[in-house]
Amino acid sequence: MRTGYHIPFNRAAHFDTTFEYMHDAFDRGRISGGGHYTRLCQQVLEQELGAARVLLTTSCTHALEMSALLLDIQPGDEVILPSFTFVSTANAFALRGAKPVFADIDPATLNIAPDHVEALITPRTRALVPVHYAGVGCDMERLGALAATHDIAVVEDNAHGLFGAYRGQMLGTFGAMATLSFHETKNFSCGEGGALIINDPAFAERAEIIWEKGTDRRRFFRGEVDKYTWVDLGSSYLPSDVLAAMLWAQLENRALIQQRRGDIWHTYETRLADWASVNAIQLPTVPDDRDQAYHLFYLLMPTLEARQALIAHLKAQGILSVFHYQPLHLSRMGRQFGGQVGDCPVTEAVSDRLVRLPLYYGLTDAQQAAVIEAVQSFAC
Ligand SMILES: *Cc1c(COP(=O)(O)O)cnc(C)c1O
Repeated sequence: MRTGYHIPFNRAAHFDTTFEYMHDAFDRGRISGGGHYTRLCQQVLEQELGAARVLLTTSCTHALEMSALLLDIQPGDEVILPSFTFVSTANAFALRGAKPVFADIDPATLNIAPDHVEALITPRTRALVPVHYAGVGCDMERLGALAATHDIAVVEDNAHGLFGAYRGQMLGTFGAMATLSFHETKNFSCGEGGALIINDPAFAERAEIIWEKGTDRRRFFRGEVDKYTWVDLGSSYLPSDVLAAMLWAQLENRALIQQRRGDIWHTYETRLADWASVNAIQLPTVPDDRDQAYHLFYLLMPTLEARQALIAHLKAQGILSVFHYQPLHLSRMGRQFGGQVGDCPVTEAVSDRLVRLPLYYGLTDAQQAAVIEAVQSFAC
């Protein structure tokens, strides 16, 4: 393998139709954004989620930036989000001058902790951005009630949770808006890509304008105006239709992809249970009222040293495993926003100990068996 690993951490799901559609997008002669395959992707996501509007974007980061623009986030506003997340969850709002306020996570699900959210709410709180970590839904009943009581907008960072559900309701349909990622490491991927899901129709028209560089070009294309012009803030948030074609091949096969990811996830859980309990390793917790999206399978090791040793042990056998999320409140930027040691004790205790195992559509049974054997031959 070009990666130098026999078993990489991730590979994009590939189908016979992948290059066929990309080729067709090229042949259609319009490879900019908003074309045939973009529309197909948006339509299927709108149908699956029952969303008012879905717009494909160049990344989840950009979809989050669009949400901050749509909410008119201003300097001095506060936005509550988990410290245990990717930087974009915070950056998108910090770019508008808002202060990210970091909440801790629940030790079982690693999702944002509603009690801490409640304690962090102030009259300046404008938005709450829950992340459905690993594709397991947050406690949306409590978070939704807090947001409603305090008149706070909810934007779900659903980079992990497409096709997951909380109490039967799809993730990404709880907030006024939600975002998706189609980055290489996600369940569905076109290399770099994302989407903005708009559930509150009041945001739909302005979202199209922000998406199209602050112009009413979409209305022009639909023949609703006879020329298009600069009408609002905006940027270049549309991915090329060639990338949408790559994504479409996967979205068409969404049931297959999710089924396979689920099988791999449950095989890890079953086969590693004894090893985990002997070695005091915590496996993921999925509450009964949640249908997870099978985004990642992680191990919570007892110590940082054990985590690093396991990663090295797997690497020696050609298997790439990775860790993630340094606490945002303790990052250089997070400290500039007032973050201090002790603000989010669970995040601080977890982030050094987490390791993620290879989980992707094309991982074969034999490859997974090799990963499991390698993990089982490690003792802490
Ligand atoms: C991957 C990820 C992002 C960023 O996604 P991009 O598409 O790479 O911009 C944001 N938030 C979370 C929780 C993520 O996992």
